[in-house]
Amino acid sequence: AAKSDGRGRFLMYDPERDARQAARYALAAEMPDALDRREFTLVYQPLVSLEDRELRGVEALVRWDHPRLGRLSPDSFIPLAEETGVILALGRWVLEEACARAAEWAKTFPDRRVCMSVNMTVSQAHEPGLPADVDGILARTGLDPSLLVVELTESAVMDPGGTASLVALADRGIRIAIDDFGTGYSNLAYLRRLPVHMLKLAGPFVDGLRDGDKVDEHIVETIVRLAHAIGISVTAEAVETPSQEAALRRLGCDTGQGWLFSRPLTAEGVTELLRAP
Ligand code: C2E
Ligand code: MG
Ligand code: MG
Ligand code: MG
Repeated sequence: AAKSDGRGRFLMYDPERDARQAARYALAAEMPDALDRREFTLVYQPLVSLEDRELRGVEALVRWDHPRLGRLSPDSFIPLAEETGVILALGRWVLEEACARAAEWAKTFPDRRVCMSVNMTVSQAHEPGLPADVDGILARTGLDPSLLVVELTESAVMDPGGTASLVALADRGIRIAIDDFGTGYSNLAYLRRLPVHMLKLAGPFVDGLRDGDKVDEHIVETIVRLAHAIGISVTAEAVETPSQEAALRRLGCDTGQGWLFSRPLTAEGVTELLRAP
């Protein structure tokens, strides 16, 4: 049998694809209970200054310790959570957990300013209750809003539906980062509409710096110059080699994140890092 893919094209019946879809739906259906059973955890990847490798912040990255499937990476369940709407409950849990940790670190290590970056999808950003939820979480955890960074992709900020919520967050002193910058639309109009504080340079550009690709170097240099001219800082994602680090430093990039500096750590791992002189 042939069926439509919804865009007016007809596809042949594919039993494997149907089985895969069924498995995805089954996984999606498990998510609400998994939240109650506390099967999700956060790991934290350091962001370091490219000047001196000093710790500037961490990014919270969610993992699902599934009882049968083992540890699942977010790429295998975040898009699903976004499709089914479970992302709103999961996202609230992530935000509360990450803010509680950051508040704890701020209290134990008052002379280190460690920011906490949290990822948000488009539906989270568009949820009208977001600012009120964030207010509740900041009040309960006692986190200084200037230590919180919200990461959104270009596709999430392209749609003006989330503007009011994001402006409300920025009004509270929360900072906004554009994640995977350069992989979405190259339409920068949102920079005029939104209070953006940081660009996170996407992996593919950083990858090109590995072997001195001139085009990638010019692109990175231009992005950094544009960002700095309008008061935005630049973080490079997925920095894996010393040659990338050297190029990024030379091109004026502010901070870096990647396996060269640190893999994502447990909360205890971050505490150890902060305790070390
Ligand atoms: P992202 O926000 O761009 O996060 C960076 C991803 O790059 C992470 O993958 C991180 O582990 C990986 N990475 C870090 N250093 C390196 C490196 O040197 N080389 C390479 N190749 N990769 C590196 P992860 O943890 O699998 O997360 C994937 C994506 O899932 C994230 O991309 C983010 O978009 C999303 N995500 C993660 N946690 C959350 C969450 O709590 N909420 C939401 N809405 N999305 C999340
Ligand atoms: Mg991110
Ligand atoms: Mg990213
Ligand atoms: Mg990504």
